[in-house]
Amino acid sequence: MNTLRPGQDGYAEEVAGFQTAVPSSPAVVVPAESAEDVAAAVRYAAEHGLPVAVQSTGHGLTAGTDGLLISTRRMTGVEIDAAARTARVEAGARWGAVIEAAGEHGLAPLSGSSPDVGVVGYTLAGGFGLMARRYGRAADHVRALDVVTADGELHRVEPGSDLFWALRGGRDSFGVVTAMEFDLFPVSHLYGGGLYFAPEDVPAALRAWRTWSAAAPDALTTSLAMVEYPDLPVLPAPLRGRHIAQIRVAYLGEDGDELVAPLRAAAPVLMDTLKVMPFTESGSIAAEPRQPHGYHGTNATVSQLNDAMLDAVVEHAGPGAATPPVLIIDRLGGALARPAAVTGVGWDSSAEFVVRALSLVGDGGVAAVRTAHAKLFDALAPWTTGRLLPFVYGEHAAIEGVHPAADLRRLGELKRRYDVRSTFRALGPEAKAR
Ligand SMILES: Cc1cc2nc3c(=O)[nH]c(=O)nc-3n(C[C@H](O)[C@H](O)[C@H](O)COP(=O)(O)OP(=O)(O)OC[C@H]3O[C@@H](n4cnc5c(N)ncnc54)[C@H](O)[C@@H]3O)c2cc1C
Repeated sequence: MNTLRPGQDGYAEEVAGFQTAVPSSPAVVVPAESAEDVAAAVRYAAEHGLPVAVQSTGHGLTAGTDGLLISTRRMTGVEIDAAARTARVEAGARWGAVIEAAGEHGLAPLSGSSPDVGVVGYTLAGGFGLMARRYGRAADHVRALDVVTADGELHRVEPGSDLFWALRGGRDSFGVVTAMEFDLFPVSHLYGGGLYFAPEDVPAALRAWRTWSAAAPDALTTSLAMVEYPDLPVLPAPLRGRHIAQIRVAYLGEDGDELVAPLRAAAPVLMDTLKVMPFTESGSIAAEPRQPHGYHGTNATVSQLNDAMLDAVVEHAGPGAATPPVLIIDRLGGALARPAAVTGVGWDSSAEFVVRALSLVGDGGVAAVRTAHAKLFDALAPWTTGRLLPFVYGEHAAIEGVHPAADLRRLGELKRRYDVRSTFRALGPEAKAR
């Protein structure tokens, strides 16, 4: 087992992740290459009384650590079993690698908007993907997890085991997952992309999308983003320096153009990227930034999206708002509203939408971002039903407030059984072992 300590060559590179607004200064970093390295690292931490954190890509960092950091970025193995329609990946694999490998067999995973996100961190947080309304959460399609628990032992856990339940939603509170097996789906192409609308048409686009998506078939997963683009030559000309609405579409049917016709007629379309594409190009639908940066974000699941809520969204996050975040509203329902075959921790299946806000952390720091976001989420509070773990960015105690009380109590009991010393510190106080 290799280790890196502050000041050593490679330490800073190993600690750095996609998210740059969560500073971390671990006493020891273990650049793990295998499950055995992970197990040795956990035992080393126990011997030295160090808390353990794990990092793959750094897209979802919630807190820095001063303890021992296990870096899984070298554990990138991906195996596809085309006949069984499953994949087995190591802890550091990114979605892009699975999409490519599965695509060779006409299969696709339940990946999300960005191919750069880590498969394991994404799935353990629930995993809300491009085909979520058709197939449900990625966490609901996990077959098995290899996990190193606080005692440094490697276990394989499957449906029926308490740990299998707790890890899918409890994320890094119970151990370090070293490998994961999960379902793939017979999808080679989809109809996807975006329709972009000018600032003055944002309110009309919001209302049209709300009405249109209410009748959506499960084969359609869709969201609406509001983004203020900087005036940069690298951006497509129609978007430069404008605060636009982007309707994102991922559809598994043959009649995509017919389906989106009401949206194309709702207001003049600035830019239209909708087309039939191979699933391997699905990262182009949201076209998210790929450069590391500092951001902070939260979300609310809501039971409806009435006119008062849409007005609040435009006021606090639309063109002309004082400090607008990137705002994304996802239409839930479909398979997400139906019980999963093997449930995991917490999932608000009754919510109709999730409203997410994400802002760059600027000179005012995280406090300024929180204040700006609070205005929006306070206005949505009467209809808010919960908060989704994957879309909480940069919060220290991310798991608090994202799971129902009953799940938190069960997580607390399991914490006392599997991690009595709270070696893995991710859980909030309600569910800490002591
Ligand atoms: C640009 C972008 C796009 C996104 N798109 C989507 C989307 O479409 N759908 C969606 O659901 N989410 C999405 N997310 C959220 C993303 O799924 C979460 O942030 C996820 O936790 C990232 O996992 P990671 O491993 O890449 O990041 P990391 O920051 O490395 O890890 C995130 C968390 O997972 C834990 N973790 C990582 N590996 C392990 C392991 N092996 N064992 C135990 N715990 C582990 C870490 O400790 C940490 O708490 C997106 C995030 C970004 C920044």
